[in-house]
Amino acid sequence: MSNDRTREVIVIGSGPAGLTAAIYASRAQLSPLVVEGEPSSTSDQPGGQLMLTTDVENYPGFPDGVMGPELMMNFRAQAERFGAEFITAKVTDVDFSSRPFGVWVGEEEHRAEAVIVSTGARSLMLDIDREDELLGHGVSTCATCDGFFFRDQEIVVVGGGDSAMEEASFLTRFASKVTVIVRRDVLRASKIMQERAHANPKIVFLWNAEVAALHGETKLDGVTVKDTRTGEKSRLDADGLFVAIGHRPNTDLFVGQLELHANGYLKTFDGRSHTNVEGVFACGDVQDDWYRQAVTAAGSGCMAAIDAERWLESQGH
Ligand code: NDP
Repeated sequence: MSNDRTREVIVIGSGPAGLTAAIYASRAQLSPLVVEGEPSSTSDQPGGQLMLTTDVENYPGFPDGVMGPELMMNFRAQAERFGAEFITAKVTDVDFSSRPFGVWVGEEEHRAEAVIVSTGARSLMLDIDREDELLGHGVSTCATCDGFFFRDQEIVVVGGGDSAMEEASFLTRFASKVTVIVRRDVLRASKIMQERAHANPKIVFLWNAEVAALHGETKLDGVTVKDTRTGEKSRLDADGLFVAIGHRPNTDLFVGQLELHANGYLKTFDGRSHTNVEGVFACGDVQDDWYRQAVTAAGSGCMAAIDAERWLESQGH
């Protein structure tokens, strides 16, 4: 089913980046259509990764903190106020080979002169029982966001890469003890990050180990650790579990259409939001493997809307 109207802008994704792009684009009278995703337990749902968190204390403007879902509902309401329209579904296909660009939601076809891609990224998870349920209740994927809540408590970090070393080191600012659980007997992390972690008296390593179960009624209070060689299981008390086994950008839709870095993140150029396809812009975590913060995503959403607006203007729209 084809939609006769060609839009000026379609925004794909509705985390802080996409919704900020929608606020700016709607205030620029570009009547954006936001395809926001569909409800699920993963981060590619409307509102993105903040829907999986509880308190957000580092978003400027909220001195007492704000709940992640509430923050995203406010972003959305602000975009709606200026005329952004929403479709609560996932984009199933795109065609960026000619303009106006094609964006499909199932059989439904939408066309736009410019597209802003803000499909975000997701943390890889352990995929064990109760992980979803305890996310935000002791289980976290972001030390920068949640470390503060674990003052003087014991924390477990899973992973052996740079992320895990960085998270573990950062968490020692708050925690009394950080146990890093590594599934092999070597780390993947760079030497310097390894050395830093080894030198930190609050960090201990548990080698050849994986987390097999999570404990706690409403909040995590311990994990079952399984020895990967012997299969032997033991309980480890922990108030927090940080999963730091990597992230994946949500870029499957764009393979073959937009240039990606080797790690799958979208390429943007010259410190701006444009991709290799003129008229297609990217913002937020889908093109950022470095900062991954709500406020940086929102900032880049603003950049993408301004870039799209100026580009449309240069094209006579
Ligand atoms: P990586 O892919 O580098 O490392 C993932 C780690 O998690 C590996 O040790 C891996 O084990 C382990 N792992 C994967 N799946 C599981 C699982 N299911 N259960 C238990 N352990 C698992 O990801 P990172 O996020 O650490 O890093 C991504 C990129 O970002 C890297 O290039 C890194 O250098 C960079 N980075 C740089 C930083 C810095 O320089 N400050 C900070 C953070 C990231 P195994 O080794 O056995 O596969």
